[in-house]
Amino acid sequence: MTHPVLLLLTHDADGRVVSVDERDPREPQLSVADLAATRGDGIFESVGVVGGRAQALEPHLTRFAKSARMLDLPSPDLDAWRGAILRGVEIAADTETELLVKVILTRGVEGTGVPTGWVHVFASGSYRAARDEGIRVVTLDRGYRSDVAETSPWLLQGAKTLSYAVNLASLREAARRGADDVIFVSTDGIVLEGPNSTVIALIDGVYVTTPPDLGVLEGTTQGAFFAHVESQGASTAYRPMTLAELQSASAVWLASSGRQIAPVITLDGVVMAQDPAVTPVELAALLAR
Ligand code: PLP
Repeated sequence: MTHPVLLLLTHDADGRVVSVDERDPREPQLSVADLAATRGDGIFESVGVVGGRAQALEPHLTRFAKSARMLDLPSPDLDAWRGAILRGVEIAADTETELLVKVILTRGVEGTGVPTGWVHVFASGSYRAARDEGIRVVTLDRGYRSDVAETSPWLLQGAKTLSYAVNLASLREAARRGADDVIFVSTDGIVLEGPNSTVIALIDGVYVTTPPDLGVLEGTTQGAFFAHVESQGASTAYRPMTLAELQSASAVWLASSGRQIAPVITLDGVVMAQDPAVTPVELAALLAR
């Protein structure tokens, strides 16, 4: 049984990390006036840990810094954050269980201008059914055009913010429709991403994903998946996909830290084509990272 680990990163008014201290995650730690709690004003990363190894640590840190820039937060001291993540995983000392590390930076207690930061390591739930049996997915209109990141950067599409109430609402809508997960589509009919995953589709022998400049998060798991299939000689592409292309793909997966990849077995209630040879091989490669 993994004991959750909490490390608090105390900042100064210039946004520098002044100390990293272990705290009891069962005790209250956050001020009720913290802008994370009152406004969802902050950023996060979820890093998967398999066999005691924090996966895709550098891509996660790079994306953390990008989210901070997009929200005009102080630039995170990546050496301090990297050190805290590795220390948290080391304290958890569990190479058997798959873990998640939540890495969180908020704008801090309102009025202070001092960010709040913490690293929380805990055992992830089981992903066995999603990985092995697949997931039922519905498409939902995100309500934005695919050029929203360019036209309206204040909507923060492509930043990993703490404002995930909409993402969670979309998952409840999926459950109401008898599904497990969601793929968002833009108002102009372009496939975007899941509420916490990246879409990968096999189309005409090419693994395709949505380009991050369409306001989707650059997926670290999708990045590792592409690197692995490319190393096996397969072709990959970042290009906009229409819903019709997704529906007729040879296979579709949702990729994310923790769950790694889950094959899509139905899309809006219609049975999807599968590539059963690919899923176990790529899952094993992702777990072995
Ligand atoms: N897209 C969104 C909106 C996400 O929240 C996530 C991860 O939680 C992803 C994509 C997948 O990113 P990663 O593979 O780095 O976990």
